[in-house]
Amino acid sequence: TDRAKKTGGTVHEPIATATVIGAGIMGQGIAAANLKRGVAVRLSDAQPEALAAGVASVVREASYNKKTKAADLELALHNAALIAGTNDSTQLAAADVVIEAVIEAADVKRSLFAQLEPLLRPDALLASNTSTIPITTLAHGLERPELFCGLHFFNPVRKMPLVEVIRGKQTSEATVERMAAYARQLGKTPVVVNDGPGFLVNRLLLPYMNEAALLASEGVPFKLIDKAAKGFGMPMGPLELHDVVGLDTCVHAGRVMQAAFSDRVTGAPILERLLAAGRKGQKNGAGFYDYP
Ligand code: NAD
Repeated sequence: TDRAKKTGGTVHEPIATATVIGAGIMGQGIAAANLKRGVAVRLSDAQPEALAAGVASVVREASYNKKTKAADLELALHNAALIAGTNDSTQLAAADVVIEAVIEAADVKRSLFAQLEPLLRPDALLASNTSTIPITTLAHGLERPELFCGLHFFNPVRKMPLVEVIRGKQTSEATVERMAAYARQLGKTPVVVNDGPGFLVNRLLLPYMNEAALLASEGVPFKLIDKAAKGFGMPMGPLELHDVVGLDTCVHAGRVMQAAFSDRVTGAPILERLLAAGRKGQKNGAGFYDYP
């Protein structure tokens, strides 16, 4: 059709409507990436305040004008009409693709899928933005696991070109191709990877981050750790990166990696301590560092 785009020899209808579940750091970034490419978005979140703040922030980001360094009013009105914040399952299910970006907990993700999948169109794609949880285990209980895969964006979504398309055991080749085409439609660079805890990027990244948290647990000053890593060439230090990711997410993802790779990854006590003190990272103003 006219709307179809050629990708890798196969013709795929571009995605016109996307649903993003979870309006946190990643859900907002993913929703904004869709709006920027004219894809209509429905955004949802279990917490009404998070949903309202999320919709506003997505519209702001998608309407940002680099030249004037402010939101373009006309674009903002256009974008505000393209996005709806809702927790109505029927509305959320009426999309070409549904991307889940809620907390890193398998049971929460699975119960969401169980609720939404029966309402989806028969050919709708379903994806999880999980950092670490194997796609094949998240697919347990799905009626159409062939239409499900991992679609792993990186933080901050507006800056990071990479998207991992994760092929679960039951994901069909057609789904992998449609998802990769969708990632390209959003201006991203998809890499198709096989399933497994942490997939590819987080197999590399999380042990490195965890090792930094272990050093911090041993009493090495935070700033020294970050300074050394930056001096070595990293764009930001590993403890700063913990704060950007969110310490709660780091702990959840860390547990998946510790269970899978107990020979290599051990939990860093400082993370649990900081979290117990209410420090979740940049998202609530305090993590390893303070963000007043
Ligand atoms: P976040 O804490 O910023 O946001 C999660 C949101 O999900 C919260 O607003 C919460 O209210 C909402 N939520 C929780 N349970 C819900 C439910 N049942 N239904 C609807 N909403 C619900 O987390 P985040 O950093 O955006 O992470 C989301 C997912 O993306 C996780 O799986 C995480 O591992 C993954 N991820 C995170 C990063 C990162 O750097 N933060 C990068 C890549 C992937």
